[in-house]
Amino acid sequence: MPVVKDFFIALSNNKFMNESAKKMGPALGAKKVVAGVDIDSTIDTVERLNMRGISCTLDNLGEFVTTRHEALEAQQNIVEIMRRNYNANIDAHVSIKLTQLGINIDKEFAYKNTREILLKAHEYGNTFVNIDAEKYEDLVGITETLDRLKGEFKNVGTVIQAYLYDAMNIMNKYQDVRLRLVKGAYKEGPNVAFQTKEEIDSNYIKLIEHRLLTSNAFTSIATHDHNIINHVKQFVKDHHISNDQFEFQMLYGFRTDYAYELAGEGYNFTMYVPFGEDWFGYFMRRLAERPQNLNLILLDIFNK
Ligand code: FAD
Repeated sequence: MPVVKDFFIALSNNKFMNESAKKMGPALGAKKVVAGVDIDSTIDTVERLNMRGISCTLDNLGEFVTTRHEALEAQQNIVEIMRRNYNANIDAHVSIKLTQLGINIDKEFAYKNTREILLKAHEYGNTFVNIDAEKYEDLVGITETLDRLKGEFKNVGTVIQAYLYDAMNIMNKYQDVRLRLVKGAYKEGPNVAFQTKEEIDSNYIKLIEHRLLTSNAFTSIATHDHNIINHVKQFVKDHHISNDQFEFQMLYGFRTDYAYELAGEGYNFTMYVPFGEDWFGYFMRRLAERPQNLNLILLDIFNK
């Protein structure tokens, strides 16, 4: 349903809607997929998931960062999350977005902000820092920043979006880097990205198989797609790939029972846990990729 997808992506990019939603607090079902507005409630969520054998990656949501002040604030918030995680002794790391750290203001400034986070991560148990993939227009900035940091730090990684024609080449550049493999969440044109589900799924499987066979670095397979998860389970069995080499990841609030099941079967599992006031854009992207997520809104209305 491309029209529905376009509608929600347009909403996710609408600054006025994002700002208004921030003032309103999580609503319209977003509470089911956003762990809370502050770090305290989020730490409670992480503790509950840890008890089920699930690790977490925390994303302090933030859209439309346009000033240096906002970017520095985002950087300080991320450092504070790492400090709190470390002190609470929970199994969680952070996922960061370079747009939040000012990459569209000044690349050098965003690099310094990211480096500062990695230096602090060293103080807080050398915790892992994942750089999320964003829109294609930000890709060069993200990879250039990672290229500068990966020699100095071992605890940094990024995300490969299978919808990009160039995904295999980008992935192969990072043989020694921890990577998360995803299908891709943004709207990209046919000049850079596959457009059909069949093409994206097929490229995703190709990437997963190639990565698991050729790299010793850790790989996160981030999907809710049971067909792909089942395929990976069989593939690692057939190729004697150890469970230590990879994990599954899902987003908080989606297919939770399935997540518990996979963790219970002994697979490494990490839940992506977004939190914070800036929930609207994130929630609209989730509706764009799966309009059935509208059920979350209905549940919210009927639960009142
Ligand atoms: P889909 O193609 O959405 O779904 C495939 C099939 O799985 C569906 O047809 C259905 O049968 C089943 N299914 C899916 N969801 C459900 C559900 N809720 N309930 C029941 N069945 C379901 N994207 C980025 O661009 N950058 C990132 O940094 C990034 N990080 C991510 C981190 C994590 C942990 C995850 C899970 C996703 C991330 N994404 C990211 C989003 C990703 O790119 C996809 O947009 C998103 O995961 C949807 O694709 P999917 O693989 O889950 O499968």
